[in-house]
Amino acid sequence: MAGRKVNIFWFRRDLRTEDNKGLFFSLSTGVSQALPLFIFDSNILEQLPAKTDKRVDFIMQSLKIIQQQLGGNLLCAYGKPEDIFTQLCKTYDIGAVYCNEDYEPYAVGRDNAVKELLSKKGIRFIDFKDQVIFSKKDILKPDKSPYTVFTPFSARWKSKFDEDPAFFTTTFGSFSLMKNVVNPTHYPVFPESLPGLKFFSQVPSHEDIGFTFAGFSATPFPHINPELLKNYGKTRDYPYISGGTSRLGMHIRFGIISVRRLVEFAHASSPVWLNELIWREFFQSIIYHFPHSADSPFKQKYSAIKWRNNSEEIEKWCTGNTGYPIVDAGMRELSETGYMHNRVRMITASFLTKHLLADWRIGEAWFASKLLDYDLAANVGNWQWAAGCGCDAAPYFRIFNPTEQARKFDPANKYIHRWVPELKNESKINAYPEPVVDHKFARERALQVYRDSLNEI
Ligand SMILES: Cc1cc2nc3c(=O)[nH]c(=O)nc-3n(C[C@H](O)[C@H](O)[C@H](O)COP(=O)(O)OP(=O)(O)OC[C@H]3O[C@@H](n4cnc5c(N)ncnc54)[C@H](O)[C@@H]3O)c2cc1C
Repeated sequence: MAGRKVNIFWFRRDLRTEDNKGLFFSLSTGVSQALPLFIFDSNILEQLPAKTDKRVDFIMQSLKIIQQQLGGNLLCAYGKPEDIFTQLCKTYDIGAVYCNEDYEPYAVGRDNAVKELLSKKGIRFIDFKDQVIFSKKDILKPDKSPYTVFTPFSARWKSKFDEDPAFFTTTFGSFSLMKNVVNPTHYPVFPESLPGLKFFSQVPSHEDIGFTFAGFSATPFPHINPELLKNYGKTRDYPYISGGTSRLGMHIRFGIISVRRLVEFAHASSPVWLNELIWREFFQSIIYHFPHSADSPFKQKYSAIKWRNNSEEIEKWCTGNTGYPIVDAGMRELSETGYMHNRVRMITASFLTKHLLADWRIGEAWFASKLLDYDLAANVGNWQWAAGCGCDAAPYFRIFNPTEQARKFDPANKYIHRWVPELKNESKINAYPEPVVDHKFARERALQVYRDSLNEI
């Protein structure tokens, strides 16, 4: 096989072999075989708060399945992507590098750098739209600028999709193309590991990449539950209903399941759920067109908000000890499971930014460190929505009353009692903290601070 050109398919947030557009095209050239690659990106891993992380477990688990489906043929690497590609170019005669697009600012910068490095060697970098139905400039206003309000974005999304649903949900099946996958060890030399840069001919262990197993495993092959999605509009707001939402967030985030399949299903049977998938695409579009919003307010004038950032109060919020049961239930659920119900995410985010007047970036970072479905675009977009500073955000004067929210969405305290068990036991109720702040006072204070900071009368 020496001297024969090979294509590389680079897995990123598309950890599946079925209906993976980039993988399909890398295997369909009819000329070269494809070497599948996954990079444990040290730029990302070094940012994680701990060396034990359920998401790393999940990636490992997913890669093992992929490796099996690829007949054992998967090259894994640890290090910085540019260094890895430099080594790969020294080892293999690469025809082209295939992958699927990623719209986060870091990913865009990374891909541009890799593209440039490859182009200097005459190697093409070919990326495909895969994790969304519409990306980049697909959905623009009539004046060709990006939408910044959800409702018209979703209206345009739907009308464009309805032009040709079958086309937009085409399946890119790779099953019959597996014979075109090549093993990284079938070449005269294997890429050389260097300090900070390692190559593996199979999925490495946690220890190989400086981590330890967090003991996490998830459903490897999630399925769409038609019954659930039929009732989604009625159940989705109630955190005590188990199965009230799809719980597919993590699988969508890591591309375990194809968004085309989900959209095809939702379009046919669950318009409310389809709307949620469009929210996801809306925030992907926002982060792509407005990368500054990843760490600063979409609405720049909100930079003036005078956050209190009281560390003791923030600590109470993080650990679920604010004395507001629905907030504490959510925060404890998050720490224990890596998940929090959407309604409760909205309540806890509102509480941090309005009741405690803490900078939304503090909450965004805490969620980022804990959420299994953490996705920069969705997390930032929703946090800014809650803080009032995002595109199409809730107006700042709409402040959730956590007690009223609990009454409405958890009327029998089922969700609260699950995560704050001391509240269902009379003898332990004294162990539960007093409210960190009075609701009425906090509400007035937030309105005043927002109004003053924004110079609004
Ligand atoms: C403060 C805050 C932070 C959030 N952070 C994230 C995050 O990091 N990652 C994330 O995927 N979602 C985030 N969300 C959105 C939403 O809470 C989760 O997508 C949802 O709770 C995941 O549960 P599910 O898979 O059962 O979703 P379902 O209700 O079944 O929805 C299906 C899918 O649609 C997408 N979706 C649903 N709602 C939204 C939304 N508001 N914005 C963007 N996409 C959406 C998700 O991919 C979700 O898995 C956040 C919401 C808030 C209020």
